Amino acid sequence: MEDMMKIAYFSSEVYPYAKTGGLADVAGALPLALGKMGHEVKVFMPLYRNIEPQELNDAWGRTKINDNVEIIFIRHDLFYNREYLYNMPNGDYADNLLRFSFLCKASFDWIRRNGFKADIFHANDWQTAMVPLLLRTKARHDDFFANAKTLFTIHNLAFQGCFDLHKFESLALAPDCEGILEMNGCLNFVKGALLASDAVNTVSSAYADEIRTYDYGSNLQYILQLVSPKLNGIVNGIDYDVWNPSTDESIYQNYSKTKVEDKVNNKKALIKELGLKNRRAGMLVGMVTRLTQQKGIDIFIQALPEILKRHNVVILGSGEGQFHEALAKLKEEHGNAIEIIHEYNDELSRKIYAASDLFCMPSRFEPCGLSQMISFRYGALPLVFSNGGLKETVKDCKADGSKGNGFVFETLNKDELLSCFKRAEDLYKKPKEWFSVVKRAMGADFSWKKAAKNYDKLYKSMV
Ligand code: ADP
Repeated sequence: MEDMMKIAYFSSEVYPYAKTGGLADVAGALPLALGKMGHEVKVFMPLYRNIEPQELNDAWGRTKINDNVEIIFIRHDLFYNREYLYNMPNGDYADNLLRFSFLCKASFDWIRRNGFKADIFHANDWQTAMVPLLLRTKARHDDFFANAKTLFTIHNLAFQGCFDLHKFESLALAPDCEGILEMNGCLNFVKGALLASDAVNTVSSAYADEIRTYDYGSNLQYILQLVSPKLNGIVNGIDYDVWNPSTDESIYQNYSKTKVEDKVNNKKALIKELGLKNRRAGMLVGMVTRLTQQKGIDIFIQALPEILKRHNVVILGSGEGQFHEALAKLKEEHGNAIEIIHEYNDELSRKIYAASDLFCMPSRFEPCGLSQMISFRYGALPLVFSNGGLKETVKDCKADGSKGNGFVFETLNKDELLSCFKRAEDLYKKPKEWFSVVKRAMGADFSWKKAAKNYDKLYKSMV
């Protein structure tokens, strides 16, 4: 194919091999969608514990997904054969800089040795943000890398990869990279990648605008303003084969847009399994999330006593201790109206998407958000605070159910959340109108088809 490109794609997590959040979903799905378009894609990630590649040696493993897409697992057992990906419950691994700079460097070695002359080096978030700096360093001495271009994608600006400046020497990068990486007396890998890449994108146009401002810029707003001409926004998709209520083997009963009445059996079964209250007129409100400030869990906790008067709530996720404690207290007070499961559990998350009537996502900031797209797909209507990717994907319902696919509020506080919740509650009382919205949400297309085309266009504009 004439327009076919070779793409080296770097990510610290890739579904289904390792996942802590949305980055893994993206890195598992976008390369496949690009492969379908005819591009040849190699995805580089660490060989974490319990991954079993089709082929394995001392330095790397590989799993061929199809003729165009292959996963290369970089092996270093001391670095990657651990219980967690990035941190223990009490904090980050102290050697994360070493672990992820090794991932980038060893990937380059693989690329050089195997003659994979990629047109595009696509790095994601701080863990692989060293890629554009390495390419700059290597290309000076080695023509093999001379024509390659780099794209850096920001999935979440809150994580920037900051380390002591004196560690620069251990990285073996070209001397001018130090100034590119330096920010307020530290190494800042996201800042480095923003400056050193040929193009930068983030995962929605709204977030691309927001991060150039003081409120959302996490101290990088001036750098982001500087790189504005090469900054793009592309909304993610979800893999419609991975997330499909009509084939999902984890849920109690399969259903589809045309048999949406079967969804209720998932609700009944989950309520029974979790021992929640039998409330004929109440909604089941779901949340699958990291329990952090970013996700607005503090605001949701304030609103919960009111919500729990009439509805059941199930929350899956773990995070900051203060939120675990506050939720435990609510559980004590409200008993079997609420269940909280502090785990990472893919199977249970699917049951929750399938069982919920409403899915709450009051995120303070949300670069794109995948959970709202998954909840559309499973017919759970999202209730969101309008920002970032949520603003671009969730459209507020009219009171009669005409137009819209969820419930949106504009100011992040308990009262606004509750008045938005009241609108959802009122619509839920009118089953015909409610189900017309559910069907509309389930019928929308948030697959990778459109998003992959936008990446294809962006790559082509770079070479
Ligand atoms: P983020 O990447 O910021 O955590 P996203 O909405 O982009 O948020 O993606 C979150 C992804 O992680 C979704 O696929 C969601 O279902 C999944 N997820 C989050 N928490 C859990 C959990 N505790 N158990 C299982 N899956 C989870």
